[in-house]
This record gives sequence, structure tokens and C-alpha cells, in this order.
Amino acid sequence: MNYKIALIRGDGIGPEIVGETVKVIDRIGERYGHTFEYVDVLMGGCAADAVGLSYPEGTAELCRSCGAVLLGAVGGPKWGSDRPAEQRPETALLAIRRDLGLYANLRPAALRPALADACPLKRETAERGIDLLVVRELTGGIYFGKRGRYQTGDRGLECTDLMAYSEKEIERIGRRAFEMARLRRKKVSSVDKANVLETSRLWRSVMHRLAEEYADVAYEDMLVDNCAMQLVRDPGQFDVVVTENMFGDILSDEASMVTGSIGLLPSASMGDAGPALYEPIHGSAPDIAGQDKANPIATILSAAMMFRYSFQLSAEADAIEAAVDQALAEGWRTADIAGPGEEAVGTQKMGQVIRDNI
Ligand code: NAD
Repeated sequence: MNYKIALIRGDGIGPEIVGETVKVIDRIGERYGHTFEYVDVLMGGCAADAVGLSYPEGTAELCRSCGAVLLGAVGGPKWGSDRPAEQRPETALLAIRRDLGLYANLRPAALRPALADACPLKRETAERGIDLLVVRELTGGIYFGKRGRYQTGDRGLECTDLMAYSEKEIERIGRRAFEMARLRRKKVSSVDKANVLETSRLWRSVMHRLAEEYADVAYEDMLVDNCAMQLVRDPGQFDVVVTENMFGDILSDEASMVTGSIGLLPSASMGDAGPALYEPIHGSAPDIAGQDKANPIATILSAAMMFRYSFQLSAEADAIEAAVDQALAEGWRTADIAGPGEEAVGTQKMGQVIRDNI
């Protein structure tokens, strides 16, 4: 088994949170008898500074030589929109997704038991538990469609953004969602706007075909406006939510908010072959970079996803998640999740506590 891991430490808090995560991975190695090899990959603002390009040549090849990619975060005010595209960190993020063919974005949103108070919803809603997975299509739809602007006679400037989806694109993300549901509580909610959009009507017909094939998985259609409402009314009803790119962008942020802190949530992006990419959902937090204040948990939980999905090491993934829950249950908090009057520890201390719990 290839336990070679590409590390994109990136910018801002990236190096700090990846550093703590590597120590957790090494602890798993000691406990379970695995050896991990790391390949440092330069990407983002730091790469623009070092070699003049945010996505240096050979980045994708280096990643492809590994079994999985762990990314901290890239970006920051230093590399803003005044920079040419080839120096902007966002260019690198889109390029790596494209080059590794990462069309499926998996974002679990689970309320960690010790942090039920951080849930902004009603107490009884939080107590029913929240544990859902948003499966978002990542390389199609309106974000990748043709766009344009043109002058009209009397209406001034007019713009268009084209949303296009093929059956093939819908089927592969749909399959991913049903497969994930089989590993979880066996329910898929497919979210669309089929009462208005033609792409959604195609989406729905493909999903219905898959639902027949995966007859052991419960299936429902849901309109996106209703889903936005249900996520705050009763998020406990969801297991796997599958949806197209733009709806997924919005709904996954909403889902993450109902679980409390941005510093806690991991994600994975996958294709059909080659390494998947694991990263926290948050950015590079330049406001707290280099101050030992960042919460490393989202990145550590991203490593747990990596063990489960890329390395098929589910006991090791469970051990990491249990160690995080234990640290939280023992009352350890970084500043972003500390309540009033609660003492906060730094990035390194939180990393060490989690490590010691494994
Ligand atoms: P952000 O997620 O970096 O920060 C938002 C707020 O949350 C900040 O107050 C920050 O201090 C806090 N925060 C974020 N992560 C935290 C953590 N682990 N622990 C404690 N607090 C945390 O979002 P932003 O400020 O909008 O973006 C900052 C930079 O990150 C931008 O350059 C943006 O482009 C980039 N970004 C990168 C990625 C990525 O690499 N995938 C994703 C999103 C944003």
C-alpha cells in the first residue's frame, strides 16, 4: 500500500496546522505499525514568492506520485487580485482540482458531542444530533460554463453564465453519493431546482435511475430552497446530500455553520483514479497566522478522512476521531471554540493532547 502523502503546507496558518497533523499521523504509524513517507509540495502564495508561480510546473506530477494529498490552506492579502493570475493562490487551487480530476467534494458536517453548545440552533435540535455529508459536484455546472458580456441597444450591458451538465457528470457524482450512503446510514437526499431548471430535470432523471439500482439506499428529491430551510429546521433528517456545484457551495457552508466552528470541519475531494485531496474547509486565516492560535482539528480530521477513504484504514480513522472527541470532552479548547470564561490553548498544545489520546 502506498502510504506516501503529499503535503501542501501553503500559506498563513497552513504550515502550523499541517505540522500538528503530521505528528498525529506519525503517532498513528507508531500505534498501528505503519510507515508514512511525506513529499513536500510547494503551492500557493509561498510558491509565488519562491519561484514566481503559485502552481509551479510539476506540482500535479508530484502529487500523483503519492497515495493522497493533504493541504493546509493557501492565499492571503499579500497575493491579492493586483497580482497576475499565475501568481494568485486561487489559480493553483482550481488547477490542482482540474489536474487531479477531483470532481467530487465531500464535506461532512457533524456536531461533535462535547460542543453541542456551539450549535446556533435550538437546544432540542442539537440534542437530536447532526451528522450529514454533503457530496458536491466540483468541476461542472455554472462555475465552469461559458460566460460572457455584451452590449445591448437599450438595456445597457448584459451578461450570461451558462449552467451545463451532462448525464455522465451527473451519474458519476450520483454513484459516489450512493456508495457513501452505503457506508453510512443509507439515505440520499438529492437536491435540485427541477421545477425551474432543465439541468435539474436531467439531474433528477439520472438520480432516479441510480436510486432503482441502489434499492437498499433510501432516496428522496428535495428542492434547493426547501433544503436550505430544512438544514436549519431539522438537520438531523439528513444523511448524504448530493447536489450540483453552486448549490453545493452554498449548502455546504450553511451545513458547516450549524455545527459550530469553521476550525473543526474537514473535507475531501476525489476523482475516479489517482490521489484524493484532503483539506480543512477554512482558509489560511492570515489574521492569526504564526501566533500558535489556529485550531488544528479540521486538518487532523481531514487526515482521518484520508485514512478512511484513500488508505482503507478505518480503525485508524476512528482512533483519530475518538482522540479529538476525547480532547473536546476533557475541555480542551482553542480560542475559536472557547466559551466565555473558558481557557484557550494554542495549536501545538491541542495537537499534543490529541496525539496523547491515540
Ligand atoms: P478563513 O477561513 O481563512 O478565516 C475566516 C475566519 O475564521 C478568520 O477570523 C480566521 O481567523 C478564522 N479561522 C479560520 N480557520 C481557523 C482555524 N483553524 N482556527 C481558528 N480560527 C480560524 O477565511 P477568509 O478570511 O475569508 O480567507 C483568508 C484567506 O484564505 C484568503 O486568501 C482566501 O482566499 C483563503 N482561502 C483559502 C482556502 C483554501 O486554501 N482551500 C479556502 C478558503 C479561503
